[in-house]
Amino acid sequence: MSTAVVTGGAGFLGSHLCEYLLERDWRVICLDNLDTGSLENIERLRGDAFDFRYHNCVEFIDVAEPVDVVFHLASPASPVDYLRLPLATLKVGSYGTHNALGLAKFKRARFLLASTSEVYGDPEMHPQQEEYWGNVNPVGPRGVYDEAKRYSEAMTMAYHRQQGVDTHIARIFNTYGPRMRQHDGRAIPNFLSQALAGKPITVFGDGSQTRSFCYVDDLIEGLFRLATSDYHLPVNVGNPNEMSLLELAEKVVALTGTRSEIVFEGLPIDDPKVRQPDITRAREILGWEPKVSLDEGLRRTIESLGRTPVPA
Ligand code: UDP
Repeated sequence: MSTAVVTGGAGFLGSHLCEYLLERDWRVICLDNLDTGSLENIERLRGDAFDFRYHNCVEFIDVAEPVDVVFHLASPASPVDYLRLPLATLKVGSYGTHNALGLAKFKRARFLLASTSEVYGDPEMHPQQEEYWGNVNPVGPRGVYDEAKRYSEAMTMAYHRQQGVDTHIARIFNTYGPRMRQHDGRAIPNFLSQALAGKPITVFGDGSQTRSFCYVDDLIEGLFRLATSDYHLPVNVGNPNEMSLLELAEKVVALTGTRSEIVFEGLPIDDPKVRQPDITRAREILGWEPKVSLDEGLRRTIESLGRTPVPA
């Protein structure tokens, strides 16, 4: 039986990863300080193979058992959260990543860093390939997250090159699915909770900015394949199906059958204008690509909220 440590294991992605591993007969040690994660996310994960430990990865990570893979997912990840928790975000990206890498080195375990498309900032290359260095404002409000993740990537590569740790870096693009918090602040949970409550759907700016949304099950499969690969440079993991935020809002209206109107609000500072992963590398190295369409993924997410989507 293999053992994984999942930092941020009670978060949105973390809880899905824990579930994925348990289904494949892994033993899972889930670490979380519940800043943005919750026990609700992991309440169905019981049994001897699952071990939740309340822990902030900014502090030394003490694990007695042998470990095969450290999945380092801990971090606030929604813009509203990292704007609310700027120092915690910087600390978990720096000290937290250092501790998680130190654990992997000590245990001779594989290490996977959950990095982000935010390392590309407001990109001047479109779609974004992994070779692109990005366009980040270090002193803007999003800089706390973007720079923490860029530093995490640099530290991960240093542990690989200097210390020989078997590291992997996933650049995760916008992901959605069941268990995102209703008040997460990100576009899909906002739009869905607004639509299902019959409230106005808040599109920021004129809605022409684009994103590309990946269903959570696809994303987790990509993370697992990367962690167990022999590839060490960053790999984009996301769905290349790009759309404008206005198109997304219209899709949510159609799938929920809501009478909510779409309203326009101010665009947040440094909000990237476009975002779409080039996933050539993931296709070639991992044999991976997303399988769940946006319609299907949104339907599943609506159902997870106890509601019935409009029939296809
Ligand atoms: N957005 C929006 N309305 C909302 C929440 C977000 O129009 O209620 C926009 C946001 O300005 C951005 C896009 O949706 O252009 C995606 O935002 P999100 O917070 O989901 O993640 P980001 O991609 O910015 O990290």
